[in-house]
Amino acid sequence: MKDALLYEGKAKQVYAAKNKPGQLVLSYKNDATAFNGEKKEVFNGKGRLNNEISSRIFPILHENGIKTHFIERLNETEQLVYQTEIIPLEVVVRNKATGSITKRLGIKEKTPFEPPLVELFYKDDDLGDPLINDEHALFLSNVTPSELKEIKATALEINKSLSTLFESINITLVDFKLEFGRMEDGRIVLADEISPDTCRLWDSNTQEKLDKDVFRQGTGDLIEVYEEILQRLEATS
Ligand code: UDP
Repeated sequence: MKDALLYEGKAKQVYAAKNKPGQLVLSYKNDATAFNGEKKEVFNGKGRLNNEISSRIFPILHENGIKTHFIERLNETEQLVYQTEIIPLEVVVRNKATGSITKRLGIKEKTPFEPPLVELFYKDDDLGDPLINDEHALFLSNVTPSELKEIKATALEINKSLSTLFESINITLVDFKLEFGRMEDGRIVLADEISPDTCRLWDSNTQEKLDKDVFRQGTGDLIEVYEEILQRLEATS
């Protein structure tokens, strides 16, 4: 199923797919990290939960016309994807203020953003993923101005699809981070993962946090809340 390990990140390993040129196996790890890797812990079952959650969400995006790298779920912790060259931008969409933006701009917690905000960060751990503007993004990556416009428009489309999905399971999508990659033919598609590691998900009734903030802030059981997200998603199909 898989050949050589090509890359290991904080949350996933990336392997070449056996006998499938241009395809990769993403293997989700049990490691959780926060604050640029300063806080670290292993949670048995986290890799499975994020793989299952991400493998449910990508096909829903496909149904809504979003192009992604996702091909199929392979087993409990692995999925098959198209190989892309990851564009070094973290694209964050925010529906409500929380996290870094409240401190950076002094915006009151939970302030709604209507329309939603799109922010760009430069994907560089050594620099602490700094916030950048469009001009910086064009300078720091190989995307053209029209591709950048398209990436931001796609991020807002993804926000619509995901907000509707999560609303249907009584969860508010507060904010999330996306990464895009360039395929061999030059097209840019959504890559990476969509999971409680990369989204802020609050129970719509109780406002309980059902995402990685329970680990970042030490306020709850990561596996319990990720399991809750998967169970609610499973109930929709
Ligand atoms: N996020 C992420 N990876 C990062 C930084 C942020 O997945 O390296 C996600 C995070 O889970 C949240 C959104 O992007 O859903 C916005 O995060 P924010 O900028 O508020 O950063 P934080 O408060 O986590 O430092």
